[in-house]
Amino acid sequence: MAKWALVAHGGAGVIERAHLRPEQDAAYREVMGRVAQAGAAVLKAGGAALDAIEAAIQILEDDPLFNAGRGAVFTAQGDIELDASIMDGGTLAAGAVAGVTRTRHPISAARAVMEHSPHVFLGGEGADAFARSQGLEAVEPSFFFTERRWKSLVRELERQGLPIPRRPAVAPAKEDARTALAHDEGKRGTVGVVALDADGVVAAGTSTGGVTAKRWGRVGDSPIIGAGTYATNAACAVSCTGAGEYFIRLSVARTICALVELKGLSLQAAVDQLVQRDLTKLGGEGGVIAVAPDGQMAWSFNTSGMYRARIADGEAMVVGIYKDDP
Ligand code: ASP
Repeated sequence: MAKWALVAHGGAGVIERAHLRPEQDAAYREVMGRVAQAGAAVLKAGGAALDAIEAAIQILEDDPLFNAGRGAVFTAQGDIELDASIMDGGTLAAGAVAGVTRTRHPISAARAVMEHSPHVFLGGEGADAFARSQGLEAVEPSFFFTERRWKSLVRELERQGLPIPRRPAVAPAKEDARTALAHDEGKRGTVGVVALDADGVVAAGTSTGGVTAKRWGRVGDSPIIGAGTYATNAACAVSCTGAGEYFIRLSVARTICALVELKGLSLQAAVDQLVQRDLTKLGGEGGVIAVAPDGQMAWSFNTSGMYRARIADGEAMVVGIYKDDP
């Protein structure tokens, strides 16, 4: 039985120690640890990397602290359009959805595309309809609404001089206690998990609301196989977060895997090359997490923080937020 391992992120951005209240800091650490433990429980029981990833990402999608599922950012029209992708490094099977508005767990929709359709990538209403046909939970768009994201939208539209859409009529009037703990790490955020299971298979998954005030059906890197997500047992599994337009142009996730596979770089050297060198040089901001079939785990980010956690067979869990955390 191979050693299992799992790494999770909850988005990278302007996340500084001085900006988070102690209860916010504690809330993010608690949920990142809980997510890692939930994934680890699947792996410890001999479960598949894909199952660990889906279980862990569903928790993050349901938590309004993160820009994925409930708590996702709004488009300029005042809608929430969610993107997600997943990939199995053992078979190179992959699935993705973009612009879903009614599927509670976009990561599960991506997995259903991978496992139950002849396609890799579905978009918009069709993706929601497919998810429903697979028995996945459908919700009203208001399910994803949070007051603080609405306020961020209004601020961003004012900054850009764009019209402010009508506030959704069914939106909850007040922020709940959990949502009030959310930290504004900028216009973005994403969640992702990579895992190595006891059968030696690596996989990766990513889920996001994209970027605040996005227009024209904008889609970022998160649902794009090769950009925001990639997994191959020949190298590693990678999930990204950050300014999607840069990650797409650098094919970040696939390139990290190629550096490991074709150039023999260590996992940490490969993620650092893409993030600290290439992404930074191009002017992009963000971070990545990765795991390799031999159990190597790595993360790298060029922002002030990234919510993150890692855990492996026989190793103590590590949870971090800021640059100077371990
Ligand atoms: N990568 C996401 C996107 O561009 C956003 C983020 O991770 O911050 O849609």
